[in-house]
Amino acid sequence: MPDWLSTPLQYLKGVGPRKAADLKRAGLTTVEDLLYRLPFRYEDRSRMTPIGSVRPGARAAVLGEIRTAHLARTRRRGFTIFHAVVADASGAVRCSWMNQAFLADVLQPHQTVVVFGEVRLDSSGLHFLNPEYELVPGAGADEPLGGLRTGRIVPFYEKTGSVTPNLQRRLVREALDRLPADLPDPVPPDIRSGLDLVARREALEAAHFPDADTAVDTLNAFRTPAQRRLIFEEFFLYQLGHAWRRRAHGAEAKHHVPVVDDRIRATAARVLPFRLTAGQKRALKEIVDDMQAPRPMHRLLQGDVGSGKTIVAIVAAVVAMENGLQVAFMAPTEILAVQHYTTLIQRLAASRFRVELLTGSTSAARRRALLADITRGSTHLVVGTHALVEDAVAFHRLGLVVIDEQHRFGVAQRAALRDKGLRPDVLLMTATPIPRTLALTDYSELDVSRIPDLPPGRRPVTTRIVPESRRDDVYELLRRQLEEGRQAYVIYPLVDESDKLDLKSATEMADHLQGDVLPAFRVGLLHGRMAPEAKERVMQAFAGGRIQVLVSTTVVEVGVDVPNATVMVVEHAERFGLSQLHQLRGRVGRGSEASFCVLLYQVPWTHEARERLKAMAETHDGFAIAERDLELRGPGDFFGTRQSGLPRLRTGDLVRDRDLMEAAHREARNAVSGSVLPPELLQFVTERWRDQFGLVEVG
Ligand code: ADP
Ligand code: MG
Repeated sequence: MPDWLSTPLQYLKGVGPRKAADLKRAGLTTVEDLLYRLPFRYEDRSRMTPIGSVRPGARAAVLGEIRTAHLARTRRRGFTIFHAVVADASGAVRCSWMNQAFLADVLQPHQTVVVFGEVRLDSSGLHFLNPEYELVPGAGADEPLGGLRTGRIVPFYEKTGSVTPNLQRRLVREALDRLPADLPDPVPPDIRSGLDLVARREALEAAHFPDADTAVDTLNAFRTPAQRRLIFEEFFLYQLGHAWRRRAHGAEAKHHVPVVDDRIRATAARVLPFRLTAGQKRALKEIVDDMQAPRPMHRLLQGDVGSGKTIVAIVAAVVAMENGLQVAFMAPTEILAVQHYTTLIQRLAASRFRVELLTGSTSAARRRALLADITRGSTHLVVGTHALVEDAVAFHRLGLVVIDEQHRFGVAQRAALRDKGLRPDVLLMTATPIPRTLALTDYSELDVSRIPDLPPGRRPVTTRIVPESRRDDVYELLRRQLEEGRQAYVIYPLVDESDKLDLKSATEMADHLQGDVLPAFRVGLLHGRMAPEAKERVMQAFAGGRIQVLVSTTVVEVGVDVPNATVMVVEHAERFGLSQLHQLRGRVGRGSEASFCVLLYQVPWTHEARERLKAMAETHDGFAIAERDLELRGPGDFFGTRQSGLPRLRTGDLVRDRDLMEAAHREARNAVSGSVLPPELLQFVTERWRDQFGLVEVG
């Protein structure tokens, strides 16, 4: 006999092969699946209303005796109505059920019953239509009620397929009744007592069938001790897996450990074109300290748009190269790769290091030669898209991988590197501030450095929310700025790269701006379907000031750095997510001139869209914006359409239960840093990760 929790549901009463298949389709295979699918809502049906005082339109529970009951056949073939009259000392009420002929065998005169439902008023008085009902055994109206769906706080389960809430209630009851007394508990007793968490068995019982005195509001907010205990358990096992893996990988020594001496410090200082901000200095110190440690660095550098992450990464690269190590510098798009390449050759022009660019548009012959140089070690730094690490590139002595604006893929890429037997230092950079709760999921294995400040002299971007009807004002602003020698972006939404309609509007807008609005200036067009060389030409022309207005789909979203651009016009701003808007706004305000971000919207717009644009106008703080975005969109959409990096959760909610995730993170790190994990606990973790979180090896 396997333990009760892993028993297939088929072993429960009344579950035959057919029902078992239905349950399985609803994602319920074992007793554990069933017990960890918590009710999504609770309703208090413990308070009985005297029948004489029920009001039409309200939901009420009444307790009474069945006076009459009969099944009526109607003229429509096969259609039946079961009628009953239920009475207590204060009055009587009619009840009827459509097409439930079997009730004739269940509800009979003189039985005591609880009826729950919405009370209606029709021509012949008050009336329950298809109410929930439950017989009260042992008659006596003042005996305690032991039902599952009336006379108590009743749990509601998501109806999935043919698995009804009622069936679930019945099965859950049986599953709970047969729980062994010595049910093992994955949350160790000291953590339980420290956080005031109830024991597992008790929590399961109370989360499904709460005591009558539990506050229904607290239940529906998922904040009862029982619910929180189960959510903590889920988060804790998740975090333990991360903490365990972090420890295991942290134990691997890297192949090459750089050292930093005065000579290297001096070389590094020479690449700096300006004084670093305090935040940049601190981040750089954390990174370089980490690089000198025997274990591979896995660090996330977080800093708002324009905070100056690139130069920090360049200094780290110099440290690696001075130690005879190679550096791979990866960007999410070709445009960004080219931009980094340009910056890097400028910064390293006076050095002896060879910097090369390798992208999808590198010619085959050039590529072959380059790969040979990389393998030989005569190329010290190679910039490219992330195919760089995943492809067949064989490095001579890879020491550092920098991944820009790609926080989502960092974990997978590190795994790819490890598969090749490489253990370089990895530095991820992101301008999307990751709300704390999300930072505790995929990123909980990372160390984080933050650049909280901006380089001096930046002026906040003036943000305006403008309706389509005032488009002319926007053109006026554009014209004035261009006349002062500034440049501008005009951005179009593009849901996906093949979206022809949006592409057409971007193309038409470019023509319109050039022909009718700004004939004295040069307008360029950039979109995702252009050939890489064409994109690069346009981008270079814009960076060099030969194009003044860049009409573009969101390919300029991340990282593009043209300090002379002072106007960002976003068309259809109502269609963009908050983090995206924040990224776009970050393209301007990079120089010392006053800058503008114009969010042009078209009606009708949703309430949510209005909230988003309002948030943009109210704050420039990337973290505040990210938190707001998370609230508005939910964790699944936060990083775009991909769910990447988010755990599949059974009981918890990343937004609602963030405090518990913090606690779980803390406790898991503590548990792992101690001597050894108890073997039972390790088994819980392994099983949970295998069955639920679905990620690779733990330990
Ligand atoms: P991001 O963090 O968004 O990637 P970048 O690295 O592109 O930001 O830097 C934004 C701009 O700020 C660049 O033009 C860069 O040269 C400039 N910059 C970075 N750090 C400083 C600094 N300490 N002082 C002055 N300008 C700086
Ligand atoms: Mg950047």
